[in-house]
Amino acid sequence: MTNPIGTAASYQELQWAVLPLCGIHHGCATPGKVPVDLATGRHLSGWQQRGVPTLDEIDAWLSSPLAPRANLGCLTGRVSGVVALDIDGPGGEVLLSRHAQGDLPPTWEYRTGGGRRLIYRYEEGLRSLKLSGDGEHEGLEVLSDGRQMVIPPSHHKTGPDYAWEPGRDPWRFGEVSPCPLWVRELAKPQGKRTTEAWVDLLNTPTGKGGRHPTLVSLAAYLAGYHLDPTVIFALLQAWNEARCQPPKSQTELAQIVGWATKDSTWPTTPSSLESPREVAKRLGCSIEAARQILAQGTVSA
Ligand SMILES: [Zn+2]
Repeated sequence: MTNPIGTAASYQELQWAVLPLCGIHHGCATPGKVPVDLATGRHLSGWQQRGVPTLDEIDAWLSSPLAPRANLGCLTGRVSGVVALDIDGPGGEVLLSRHAQGDLPPTWEYRTGGGRRLIYRYEEGLRSLKLSGDGEHEGLEVLSDGRQMVIPPSHHKTGPDYAWEPGRDPWRFGEVSPCPLWVRELAKPQGKRTTEAWVDLLNTPTGKGGRHPTLVSLAAYLAGYHLDPTVIFALLQAWNEARCQPPKSQTELAQIVGWATKDSTWPTTPSSLESPREVAKRLGCSIEAARQILAQGTVSA
């Protein structure tokens, strides 16, 4: 078994802010995942402010009797120059494909206990963010400032060890890839866009690659004013028809509204007993749009 702390220096060369984590037999609620002080064996406070360790610090870690049992973590965000997409469980993969729409450039990637992580280059202001899936260990997260991630070759309490995908580690793959546009849109600081920028955006015809992230930011912006989901849906439809080339499907718009408003009851799954007219009335959309939603099957928030 590789000692994870023994690999810390190779990450330090990448200027990653690595730090020791407790071992998988630590008697805490999440063993193997929490920053730890190797001198005392206790969880560490204030780890969010740590930087890239010096080689002397790493030597001191290695000389601790606790080192062979410890895991290795890395602060994400500005300090290490990377953000991670944390994809957990089948639910995380569903969220990923819904948001990415195929825009997932190959990059550094490793396997975790219950999923995988894709590493992208950090950009100023990208914030950490969690999109929840259906189960407890199901979801998609952007790990950026203020977060840390368990990294290979750390051990997992119940699953396989954390491991780089073949050819996708920083030493063989080459430069880390830039963050895809949809991640930048999702994780950009909120409220940053000025009124003029919104007007510009709304007046700009938008093609493939730009439609989904723009609809997502528009929905999130409107949801910030606590508008009724039905109103947001109607506004998204209008912009989609006017500017998107080609327009996105009604189902996707409905999903985006459900996500942005965090309203788990909206849109409710169209029941096969509902007529297009009833769905149109409930969602405030045209009968043609309701027909499309019904034809495309279930919709979940
Ligand atoms: Zn612990």
